Amino acid sequence: MNDTSLRALRIYLTYWRMHPWLVAGAALMGPAYVLQGILCPLFIAKALGQLASHTPVSTAYLWLAGGSLISGALLRYASDRYCIMQLCAKTTRDIYNANLKHLLKQEYGFFANSFGGSLVAQANRFAKGYEVLNTVFFLDAFGLLCGVLVAIGIMMHYNFAIGLAVAGLWVASVSIVIYLAIRRMAVRRAAVAKESEQTGELADIITNAVTVKTFAQESNEQRRYGATNQERSNRYYRSWEMAVRNTLAINLLCGTLQLTVFIGGIIAVQHHALTIAAFLLFQLYILRIIDSIGVATSVVRQFEGILGDAHEMTELLGRTPVIKDPEHPEPSRINQGDIELRNVVFSYHEQADNAQALLNGFNLQIKPGEKVGLVGPSGGGKSTLTKLLLRFVDIQSGTIAIDGQDIRTILQDDLHQAISYVPQEPLLFHRSIKENIRYGNPDADEQDIIRVAKQAHAHEFIKDLPHGYDTMVGERGVKLSGGQRQRIAIARAMVKKAPILVLDEATSALDSESEAYIQDGLWKLMQGKTTIVIAHRLSTIQRMDRIVVLDKGTIVEEGTHSELVKRKGLYGKLWAHQSGGFIEEA
Ligand code: ADP
Repeated sequence: MNDTSLRALRIYLTYWRMHPWLVAGAALMGPAYVLQGILCPLFIAKALGQLASHTPVSTAYLWLAGGSLISGALLRYASDRYCIMQLCAKTTRDIYNANLKHLLKQEYGFFANSFGGSLVAQANRFAKGYEVLNTVFFLDAFGLLCGVLVAIGIMMHYNFAIGLAVAGLWVASVSIVIYLAIRRMAVRRAAVAKESEQTGELADIITNAVTVKTFAQESNEQRRYGATNQERSNRYYRSWEMAVRNTLAINLLCGTLQLTVFIGGIIAVQHHALTIAAFLLFQLYILRIIDSIGVATSVVRQFEGILGDAHEMTELLGRTPVIKDPEHPEPSRINQGDIELRNVVFSYHEQADNAQALLNGFNLQIKPGEKVGLVGPSGGGKSTLTKLLLRFVDIQSGTIAIDGQDIRTILQDDLHQAISYVPQEPLLFHRSIKENIRYGNPDADEQDIIRVAKQAHAHEFIKDLPHGYDTMVGERGVKLSGGQRQRIAIARAMVKKAPILVLDEATSALDSESEAYIQDGLWKLMQGKTTIVIAHRLSTIQRMDRIVVLDKGTIVEEGTHSELVKRKGLYGKLWAHQSGGFIEEA
């Protein structure tokens, strides 16, 4: 068992520790099995022994046999009904919640580099695994284990040599079962990893299905996906092949065990070292013990499956987010939106030499309520600046302060509360339009929502939808046009009431009607807020209080639109090459 599997087990065990009484109740499966499967046959054998030696059969044995059968059945029911089921329900519920909590703690970069579909599959497999673990352990394994131990004890009592041989062979068989299963674990894990990759690939293709079609890439995608699928299939085949070979080994071991008891029993009876009744009892017990090896194979196989399935999520659960909240966060004092970047050094790549950093000693101050447009050639660092302000990535040195407070000294939640961020292509939840807008401020009432929707010019199209504000927008908002999504995102940002607005202006894919609406909506959104816009539209740019021209991570010019046009620098060039109402970046 490798480190990750041990860690997975340890995580699973922490959930057991949260419900000690339910675990104790679940463990009653052991005594229940012993009563039903081991003690009942023992009392019957006792009665049989009296019968064979021509003494009157004591009714006490019959009562005991019946009593152990019934009480075992009832105990089994109680343990399952009141403890195991509850334990499963409560612990898996907690695991699902904990998974989401952990995932949401991860930083922006983590999500940018992961497949959504694959993360979902990993998280779900981990929680499902626990459900299986609970049932397999208590319903299949634990009872049988108790039964086998008691049976071996009873056999030793009747005939020590046979009991000892059975104990030895049983331990050896179980050890071999576990060894073989663990060997298979690595093979199975490789199969699961490939399957996860395949799921992610499928999700990616489906998400981009329209792009695939418009680029006529169906057959290429099919080929690519087919190759991953083939490898997944090969790996699963190898894992099943091993399982079948393991089963053969187990069957041979069980046969040896059965023959030992049979032949040893006959010899013992011949030498008067065992009664016929005890011999029969042994035959019954050995069937149970063999059963236990068969079940142990499947239990270990299932455990191995669970741990294999849990592998990726376990690694993920061990991951600490790159962007962390401070240990002792200060209460946020952000209310004006006075932004200052001082001596900021930042690079996407770890490097010793600051000279190669994207931002090296970068300074920028934005006064409360000021509207700043960031423009410049693509790759100049505009998006990076907005990511730094939101702490999607962290700077290597220098400070970023808002209202005099270093953003690394407060909780990320507090920072994000203070900033409305409208990305270039906003995504929406597959929830109603109303819920999507309210996302900006859970306290907003119906009137607030309609008011902001009107300001964002979203009300115009929402009121014509079949269910108005209750219309579901489809996954990621696919049922709406790009312009409509953007207007809902603007309304969502408006209802948030944050002092700072960060806006990545949409450049393309908007119809002209939407464009005019969005322009107006955006302008209303900016009122009274410190605003940073990655500006593409001339109309937006001209209205800005200040334009900052960025090139290769350096401010090369700044000023108002007319000042910069007059200066005939980089901005002047960009302006001269404008097209269709947009600054040409390339
Ligand atoms: P702009 O928004 O002005 O087009 P960006 O801020 O997106 O520019 O990018 C600035 C530079 O940083 C570019 O050279 C880009 O390739 C690089 N960059 C952006 N994002 C990442 C990332 N996640 N990892 C590595 N490099 C990045």
